[in-house]
Amino acid sequence: MTLSIRPDINSAAQLVSSLSTQQLPTVTEAEMAEAVRTLLIGLGENPDREGLKDTPKRVVKALQFLTKGYHESLDELLNGAVFTEDADEMVLIRDIDIFSSCEHHILPIIGRAHVAYIPNGKVIGLSKIARICEMYARRLQVQERLTLQIADALQGLLKPQGVAVVIEATHMCMVMPWRAKTWFLDCY
Ligand SMILES: [Zn+2]
Repeated sequence: MTLSIRPDINSAAQLVSSLSTQQLPTVTEAEMAEAVRTLLIGLGENPDREGLKDTPKRVVKALQFLTKGYHESLDELLNGAVFTEDADEMVLIRDIDIFSSCEHHILPIIGRAHVAYIPNGKVIGLSKIARICEMYARRLQVQERLTLQIADALQGLLKPQGVAVVIEATHMCMVMPWRAKTWFLDCY
């Protein structure tokens, strides 16, 4: 699934509707678990040994949770929490926890987002900003796109005078132990 911000999509609503029109093949949980079992065999493991017996199912559940943002929409998430307000001072929310997964290795991206906007007649519930960050983080991501999607969502929802999103994050595929650098470069 491609989620990149496109020049022809200039509001969050358009972005959501473009996503909902994409037709994805249906895959059952059993088929997903079978794929994980195949992976384990490919890695040289015995998927029937006691410790791994339920691992395929657990991996599927974990991945579904980590990517649940694919099944969430801004409309549902906001539930009307955009308010008309005569405010023009900058609103800043710092240190929003970010737990995402890189789309190249499906390994964790862990960090914090700082989100600021200058209202232009509309404000949004503060907790909703964290939920917007979470919705986009719970997808397979690159940090650049995650940052843009959060900014684009706020831009579309609030039409503010300005919006800024900064994400500081650690990518497990970049920082994992001693040979990680060579391994990472080998991936490209
Ligand atoms: Zn990666």
